[in-house]
Amino acid sequence: MILPVVKYGHPVLRAKGAKIESASADITKLIADMFETMYASKGIGLAAQQVGQVVQLAVIDVRGIEDRPSTLELDGKPADVESIMPLVLINPELTPSGESITAPEGCLSFPEIYADVTRQAFVTVKALNAKGKPISFKCGGLLARAVQHETDHLNGILFIDRMSKKAKDEIRDEIELVQAETKAKLQKTTRTN
Ligand code: ZN
Repeated sequence: MILPVVKYGHPVLRAKGAKIESASADITKLIADMFETMYASKGIGLAAQQVGQVVQLAVIDVRGIEDRPSTLELDGKPADVESIMPLVLINPELTPSGESITAPEGCLSFPEIYADVTRQAFVTVKALNAKGKPISFKCGGLLARAVQHETDHLNGILFIDRMSKKAKDEIRDEIELVQAETKAKLQKTTRTN
């Protein structure tokens, strides 16, 4: 089922997700719905907060993005990125490393808005997979950026928080428009309920 994507201005995007204790049937269904929603929106990552759920769960799939490559290491050895796609991250813990890289980033909660964000080049990830089993890997490139962006969401942090003042100033009007639209919609919902 395709779920509505929550846009900037909704307070759920600022909520820190609760840890998931076990891979219940509800979580399995949420994972399937989040992938369906992400693919329908042509995104490469989606966090639970973006569909209104305040839990530590994100889905990622970087396949099909050829102009921005990703790298993967499993047990310290280079591995095929596709071997872990599509990727489910439950309760992820990150250790970023390497140089800081500035590159354009978007977010499904900020439709059509893109700006430069600086993040570290690599990230070591420990998480649970869709079955609740522990996984660990190190990644770079676009995948490292996506993992950092989605894990930020799980902690109520948005990409606009990571932008330089200059980058944010350039898109300030667009951000404010999304926020105003979301708040107007929320007010309408409150009134009709
Ligand atoms: Zn996002």
